[in-house]
Amino acid sequence: MKIIHNIKDLRQEMSSWRKEGLSIGFVPTMGYLHEGHGYLVKRASSENDRVVVSIFVNPIQFGPSEDFEKYPRDMEMDSRTVEACGGHVIFNPSAEEMYPSGFSTHVDVSGLTEGLCGAKRPGHFRGVCTVVSKLFNIVQPDRAYFGEKDAQQLAVIKRMVRDLNMPIEIVPCPIIREEDGLAKSSRNTYLNPEERRAALVLNRSLTAAINLMENGEINSSSIKARIEGIIKAEPLARIDYIEIIDSVTLNSIGEVKGSVLVAIAVYIGKTRLIDNFTFSGGDR
Ligand code: AMP
Repeated sequence: MKIIHNIKDLRQEMSSWRKEGLSIGFVPTMGYLHEGHGYLVKRASSENDRVVVSIFVNPIQFGPSEDFEKYPRDMEMDSRTVEACGGHVIFNPSAEEMYPSGFSTHVDVSGLTEGLCGAKRPGHFRGVCTVVSKLFNIVQPDRAYFGEKDAQQLAVIKRMVRDLNMPIEIVPCPIIREEDGLAKSSRNTYLNPEERRAALVLNRSLTAAINLMENGEINSSSIKARIEGIIKAEPLARIDYIEIIDSVTLNSIGEVKGSVLVAIAVYIGKTRLIDNFTFSGGDR
């Protein structure tokens, strides 16, 4: 397993693989890897001859009051994880390598980025789409692996790839959770023990929503009210959003019909956590 820091060296490695006819799977991450990332790398390694994992805390996707500076980083732990999961190369560029002075081109996906995290984190998806486009151009993978944990990001990336005719298959991967149901996240390390316990309210509220829907509830307001009630009963939690939307268009829906995404963002203390599930309702 190799760690490559600059674009030129990475391109050289990729072109030698391509000359050998090897397929390339790509997993973009911000590092501090956990089993959710591990799943993506293992999946990529089972479906491709070679796997590149990028580790880059992308400054342009963080807002001015967000956690760019304190985002956790640990390259040694990450290289062990990538190696154990079957990755071949870690691409770990500096911010200067990715954004040299004078950098002025950005990728904007409209519509899909307007609600949910896009509304709460202005400029976030512009930063994500710009860095993912750059990484796609540098690596030129056959397939790229994204977690359903970031459901809006996945929808936005799929749209970008379709709209810009990028010849890359986007492979969605399931949300990997702790044993007690909390979705794995690099940001979980910010939680103190009391907050860690309180964070279970995300999964608890979504599980209650799934039960309601499985029992035939189709009214979005009633489902939202159920989620809201459970989260509000947790003193350390503060709701950022609760959305019930069409899983493809990301438009709000009044009634559960077709494939529906239930997505929430909740502050536990100062830490903002997200979680979601997709429910396939009938055409009632
Ligand atoms: P990040 O390092 O947070 O930018 O995440 C990199 C990739 O890992 C994204 O595609 C995420 O959706 C995915 N990911 C993060 N957490 C999880 C998880 N708990 N389960 C599955 N995928 C995840």
